[in-house]
Amino acid sequence: MNKILVVGSVNIDLVIKTERIPSLGETVSGSGFSTICGGKGANQAVAIAKSGGDVTMLACVGDDVYGKMAISNLNQAGVCPAVKVCDNAPTGVAVITVCGGDNHIILDAGANGLVTIEMIAANEALFQAADIVVLQLEIPMEAVETAARLAKKHGCTVVLNPAPFQPLSRALILNVDLFVPNEFEASQVVGFEISGKEQVKKAICALEEMGIKQPVITLGAQGSAFRYGGEVVFQPAFRVTAVDTTAAGDTFIGGICACLCRGLTLKESVRYASAASAIAVSRFGASVSVPSKEEVLTFLS
Ligand code: ATP
Repeated sequence: MNKILVVGSVNIDLVIKTERIPSLGETVSGSGFSTICGGKGANQAVAIAKSGGDVTMLACVGDDVYGKMAISNLNQAGVCPAVKVCDNAPTGVAVITVCGGDNHIILDAGANGLVTIEMIAANEALFQAADIVVLQLEIPMEAVETAARLAKKHGCTVVLNPAPFQPLSRALILNVDLFVPNEFEASQVVGFEISGKEQVKKAICALEEMGIKQPVITLGAQGSAFRYGGEVVFQPAFRVTAVDTTAAGDTFIGGICACLCRGLTLKESVRYASAASAIAVSRFGASVSVPSKEEVLTFLS
């Protein structure tokens, strides 16, 4: 089987539900507090493993209880963790409020900030062994750029999820093969608001003109859009009751990568990923909400 390397963030999500987001200076009651393994990189690695992919995760955690929890979560999901335990920063933490089907997130990157150019270079063998390298933007940008360059050097397919959004260098853009932003991130890159199908098509053309080879824009409950066979096609989202949208995008990306590794077409991969993310949205939590390949195939049958 083809090998996937995820280079990215490991966080612990401290999640609380609330009926209403507080105004400035206000305290509102919450409920159902939970401590959940998250981080875009780790979520995507878990999603790949749960969809049957052979995946290694290169990351940093702190020498603390959350770091141990995160490594154990990766192991349990079947991800091979190439995780450095650092004693000079805490494990990354995201404080998340869930209100109805939406979420608000505050992130302290902690040890994720210690994924350096040197650390990436010291792990070149992982890039040499990989077929697909998956990147997000919760580690330092120079580490992402170095990882993309190293991946290209070894002939890997580079997947970039530009989240949370930051401006992208031309050099990084040109090293990306599959670019998976959500609607907001895509609009930041192209410089105009995206609303409605015509705007989505325009955005895909604009991304391609910038040198991005294969953009796939996710549109939340509206599904996703990408070019296939020369046309921009729309994959509608599967209808579910949204319980918690945390990790919808991560599950989507994990699903696509696992399917591409199995030799499925982009269209087949996006359909699978849409089903996987719809199931994740119907459940509470980040990586715990990611369904297995069997669950997704049952959902699609
Ligand atoms: P997040 O940051 O919450 O992980 P995202 O903003 O990166 O998510 P979205 O565009 O919200 O990504 O969602 C990714 C995919 O998940 C969508 O393309 C769609 O297939 C699926 N999805 C999202 N929300 C819903 C929903 N309410 N119902 C069904 N599917 C959904």
